[in-house]
Amino acid sequence: MATTLMAIAAHPGDAVFTMGGAVAQHIQNGGKGVFLSLTLGERGAPADVPVERYGEMQRAASLKAAKLLGAEFELLTYPDAEIPLKDQAAQSVCDVIRKHQADIVITHWSGSWHKDHQNCHLLVRDAIFYAGLKTMNRQDAPHAVRKLFYADNWEDAENFKPDTYLDITGAFDKWMQASDAYPMWRGQTGFFRYNDYYSSLAVMRGCLSGFKYAVALMSEPSERITKLRTLE
Ligand SMILES: [Zn+2]
Repeated sequence: MATTLMAIAAHPGDAVFTMGGAVAQHIQNGGKGVFLSLTLGERGAPADVPVERYGEMQRAASLKAAKLLGAEFELLTYPDAEIPLKDQAAQSVCDVIRKHQADIVITHWSGSWHKDHQNCHLLVRDAIFYAGLKTMNRQDAPHAVRKLFYADNWEDAENFKPDTYLDITGAFDKWMQASDAYPMWRGQTGFFRYNDYYSSLAVMRGCLSGFKYAVALMSEPSERITKLRTLE
């Protein structure tokens, strides 16, 4: 049976730019891919675009990117910059995990300067716990996520130590195309050149892992323990 990879981010750009390479490759390998953004990222609006209108542009870009990759895109629309660190939000994320029966989850690493990214990291950990909790009654049946990874994001770089390299050579072009759906990708709305950064990063991570293009992921520290009966 095809496994489902779910990318959960604070903002749509984080989902597609930092987790989309892995999602694109997972789909190419025969799996299912789902994006979940907790906000529309509407406060990244440039000075000449009203916040609400920018939110709609972000929604349209997300649906376009998902269609291109053959993925689904879920949007929870918490206010950008104000993602609440509340059980209710963790339960909403839990509901999306259960709905899509996510086997593998990628989300933000905690070492971020951005409060939305930090809150997303914490909410996802709680959501995974709730998703698997048999006595937590929600609309869909309990579902256990098997693996949790953290994404390589320029804003979450504090103590980010990758231990997993994923070959995304086959999906690189599609991922770049999907990212280009966003108005911010080429630095049109701010100072940061996302396209240059994330395309170069895939080359650099590829150099370190022996692939043409790769993304680096960090495993949840508690999942890194190996239990052996012998070292042979
Ligand atoms: Zn973000």
